[in-house]
Amino acid sequence: YSFLKRFDPDLVEGLEGEVNRQKYKLELIASENIASPWVRHVMSSVMTHKYAEGYPGRRYYGGCEFVDIAEKLAVERLKKLFKAEYANVQPHSGTQANMAVYFSILKPGDTILSMSLPHGGHLSHGSPVSFSGQLYNIVFYGVSKETETIDYEEVRSLALKHKPKLILAGASAYPRIIDFKKFREIADEVNAYLMVDMAHIAGLIAAGLHPSPIPYAHFVTSTTHKTMRGPRGGFILAKEEFAKVLNKSNFPGIQGGPMMHIIAAKALAFKEALTESFKEYQKQIVKNTKKLAEILQNAGYRLVSGGTDNHLFLIDLTERNITGKDAEKALDAAGITVNKNAIPFDTQSPFVTSGIRIGTPAVTTRGMREKEMEVIADFILRVLADIKNEGTIEKVKKEVRDFCANFPLFAWKIY
Ligand code: PLP
Repeated sequence: YSFLKRFDPDLVEGLEGEVNRQKYKLELIASENIASPWVRHVMSSVMTHKYAEGYPGRRYYGGCEFVDIAEKLAVERLKKLFKAEYANVQPHSGTQANMAVYFSILKPGDTILSMSLPHGGHLSHGSPVSFSGQLYNIVFYGVSKETETIDYEEVRSLALKHKPKLILAGASAYPRIIDFKKFREIADEVNAYLMVDMAHIAGLIAAGLHPSPIPYAHFVTSTTHKTMRGPRGGFILAKEEFAKVLNKSNFPGIQGGPMMHIIAAKALAFKEALTESFKEYQKQIVKNTKKLAEILQNAGYRLVSGGTDNHLFLIDLTERNITGKDAEKALDAAGITVNKNAIPFDTQSPFVTSGIRIGTPAVTTRGMREKEMEVIADFILRVLADIKNEGTIEKVKKEVRDFCANFPLFAWKIY
């Protein structure tokens, strides 16, 4: 940093602050992770300089022979990882992967049936503040009030009533297994396409810890930076019959030049994901999440749906008279980063919420296991027990800092 520090001290202040935040705080945001140092190295490579509009072997620019190597590797590895017929690794993000699928099969005004945001869905699945909600006619399904799990009967009756062209499964805040087979049966009944957005659970699916959507969905989209632990980005998987239309809708439909440095880093991340140690890592995420959830539940906190099957869980703080917003703020002040999250049938606004979402992918990458989950649970419980007590917050903050100092950001040797 020494040159940078002299040339741009203002920016370095932000960079160093972020490094220290990641090192000395506990990252429990379910959608975040820590990429390997090699993935980060490749991300900052000279491939960022290259324009490569088009696809390998069919580019609109000369000099693409080496970036083609990277993109072909990314595509081949991704297809192998998920046993898919077709892969597109160019989407800049999860939202753009979703947009590329919509643009390939829908016209403005067509109907999409998707999971509502407060019940766990994502903005790009039809929220009125997203392009998806503005371009298409959106019908939302949700979870049942009793079980807080997806109400497949409701999905079916909404599908029969509204005849959507596309049914969307997948979520940002859903702690249970999703039954993709059931979704496909419903889609077939109404002659709809089925799209699965597996952004949150892609790593678990790659490791065989969650059923794969590939045998059932016409389209599968994902991000690469959550449980997948790659660079920030997106991808699309599909049956070969959709290759042409998906390629066109992503480029030139909605994107220009692909980010070749990111695609190269995706290739590396997919190679990492094909290793045995990645499977072990995913198994540990599930164990850690269960452990943390169990301790908080035993301490009297209500978990949405009563528990978790994956990498995250939601705490309903209603009975504690704490809002999600206040809990997030107090925990952050104590060095524990979580996000406030709407719970199903929430009575608070999306900016306040009644819940928090907790996930373990990032702390698991640091090498933390069940034993460490006990320590983290203790930190959380002490803060939530008295969120206005600045003395407690200060004390926990110091303990969190000391605790984090024992764990590297990326633990190579652990799994
Ligand atoms: N899909 C799901 C299920 C997500 O949870 C997210 C992000 O949180 C996205 C899509 C969007 O990804 P991005 O932020 O890369 O656009």
